Amino acid sequence: MNKKDFNEGLLGFLDASVTPFHATQNMCGMFENAGFIKLNEVDRWNLQAGKKYYVTRNDSSVIAFTYPKNAKAYVMVGAHTDSPNLKLKPNPVIKEHGVVKFGVESYGGLLLNPWFDRDLSLAGRVNFLNKDGNIDRTLIDVKQAIAVVPSLAIHLDDKANKDKTINKQTDICPILTTNEDFDFNEFVEWQLDKLGIQGVKEIYAHELSFYDTQKAAQVGLHKDFIVSARLDNLLSCYVGMLSICSVPDDKPMLFVANDHEEVGSESVSGAGGSFLENTLRRMFEDYAQYVEMTRSSLMISADNAHAIHPNFASKHDKEHAPHINKGVVLKVNANQRYASNSNTISKFMKVANELGEPLQHFVTRSDMGCGSTIGPITATRIGIDTLDIGLPTYAMHSIRESAGNDDAHSLYKILVAMAL
Ligand code: ZN
Repeated sequence: MNKKDFNEGLLGFLDASVTPFHATQNMCGMFENAGFIKLNEVDRWNLQAGKKYYVTRNDSSVIAFTYPKNAKAYVMVGAHTDSPNLKLKPNPVIKEHGVVKFGVESYGGLLLNPWFDRDLSLAGRVNFLNKDGNIDRTLIDVKQAIAVVPSLAIHLDDKANKDKTINKQTDICPILTTNEDFDFNEFVEWQLDKLGIQGVKEIYAHELSFYDTQKAAQVGLHKDFIVSARLDNLLSCYVGMLSICSVPDDKPMLFVANDHEEVGSESVSGAGGSFLENTLRRMFEDYAQYVEMTRSSLMISADNAHAIHPNFASKHDKEHAPHINKGVVLKVNANQRYASNSNTISKFMKVANELGEPLQHFVTRSDMGCGSTIGPITATRIGIDTLDIGLPTYAMHSIRESAGNDDAHSLYKILVAMAL
């Protein structure tokens, strides 16, 4: 796939994947189109060599894999479906001061400031009692801009540009309407009605998040940047998804995208959970075969990397400071916050070098803490040799992040070549 088509598809995927549930649904649609067969974890599997499969957990994590005869050494790609956001509380409605606003929790380590003065919409999963008296669930996406978190005017806060702190409980509640007749259940039923779901007897629970309605775009004098919400880590989801769809069925490849990375991965659908291990054990029921596979496979954990910010360059080690549009970033950390080692780096470098694709190194400053990602968690839990990589990104965990126009396509080419 050429870079232009690749990046246009990326913008569409970013806009459509407003929550981890929607990202998972969109990836499943892609896998269906590419001939992957849907599996369900609660059924007995009857895997047939030569076919390819996908399976989801909690509607928010997905694994897709080819299943060639006698396959042993898999190339695996890992990513995460979730991004920091404002998540609705179970009883969200607050009526005061002439408006209706929603109480929210912050999900993950989000930068709060950029959430002010944005045209916000709401999306996620709703569980309900349907007209037949059964528990049912669906994804909703309001799509319209239905809320805003207004800044406090500078006249009322003369320190706003010097020392601004934001209280997560009181300062960032999105405001919906001045019509105080608002009823939350009616609002949700209206969304279900739009999907053709009628006769709902009770709304039981919801997992709804706010998102910015501004579309993903190519920005810069030469369209140098891809600017969007949720680039961390939908960028890697998109690259991983397209990579496995581009690889022939007789090449062993697996793609896993987990939820809950931004809150530590410790959940049933997170990388710290059993999803990948359970799936691999069912692919290789003989224990010795399973261990042979895990010990001969390579996991490439793809999560965004901090590009050096030209206005804040001192935040990087200057010998390990990735630039946008200068290639995929190899992430290393002596304290194993990243799982890369010289063996796994070498395998990736050989393929990238053969293709002529550039690579960069990232090591965090020794006097600063280092973030982590799913790589070390998967390496620890499953025992697969792992490499942590990422695409250089500005403003990570902002409501709108920036990455390069060249880098994602470069990673795609490397991942496909790794599996061939
Ligand atoms: Zn991430």
